[in-house]
Amino acid sequence: MAEPNILISEVGPRDGLQNINTIMPTADKKRWIQAQAEAGVREIEVGSFVPAKLMPQLADTAELVKFSKTIDGLSVAVLVPNLRGAKDAVACGVDKMSIPLSVSETHSQRNLNRTHDQMIKEIRSIADMVRQLPVEGRPHFEVGLSTAFGCSIEGVIDESKVLRLAERALEAGCDEIGLSDTTGYGNPTQVKRLVRSVKQAVGHNNLTGVHLHNTYGLGLANTLAALEEGIVTIDSSLGGLGGCPAAPGASGNIVTEDLVFMLQAMGLTTGIDLSLLLRVRDILTEALPKETLYGFLPNAGLPEGFVTV
Ligand code: ZN
Repeated sequence: MAEPNILISEVGPRDGLQNINTIMPTADKKRWIQAQAEAGVREIEVGSFVPAKLMPQLADTAELVKFSKTIDGLSVAVLVPNLRGAKDAVACGVDKMSIPLSVSETHSQRNLNRTHDQMIKEIRSIADMVRQLPVEGRPHFEVGLSTAFGCSIEGVIDESKVLRLAERALEAGCDEIGLSDTTGYGNPTQVKRLVRSVKQAVGHNNLTGVHLHNTYGLGLANTLAALEEGIVTIDSSLGGLGGCPAAPGASGNIVTEDLVFMLQAMGLTTGIDLSLLLRVRDILTEALPKETLYGFLPNAGLPEGFVTV
């Protein structure tokens, strides 16, 4: 079989779970990760190396990384807030780690307690640490530019700020830049324009992925806009788990089930078996009975005659 066109990076075990209060038992998380990998998902962000007292929902990240590393062919990703977290991630043998760099400096100070200059310094220290590892032990190191499409504190984010920070982060030594619509404020025109200008500024191969939220229902439209500009890695969350703490009732990340359905309907390949993927949702329903799950495909079912790839 030819290599799939699009990489779906499932972020539910990290982004989804960090935004709900329920703590999902480790055994259920393992079942989820295992089942989703069996459905053909090739990359999963399994947690975040933040102090457990700040985010008890993700306190078992090290154990989940070790477990996930035993799954053949799965790229195991995590979020790291700083050098300390990156060292923990490396010690566990992650394949990929991302650090969020908020384009809104106010958000950066409130979220990670760091200015842009301090964050760039941290990114440089992480990149230096990674470079000292033997080549085969180096995880892919990405800087995710969060609030790139708008901030709930600062409002409109000037695009020149995004470009400048993308250049600074690469210059500090990361492998790649990602664009994150943390607030879901982005629209398709903006996504097209920003992806195009960041690619022009830092090079086509240094921006391949986006992290979009569906807060205003524009997640899939924004995804399509990103695809048309050459983006090939899309973050999404099973059942859109997580919601948005700042907007009660609003969904969280793009729903993985709906995203895979759209891509397959368009003739793009993800390597994911949709029927198996839909069954993974049962694990979430069982383990998190109080949480709302989103998605159109799970309710409507596959259209008559739809051929899953
Ligand atoms: Zn997010």
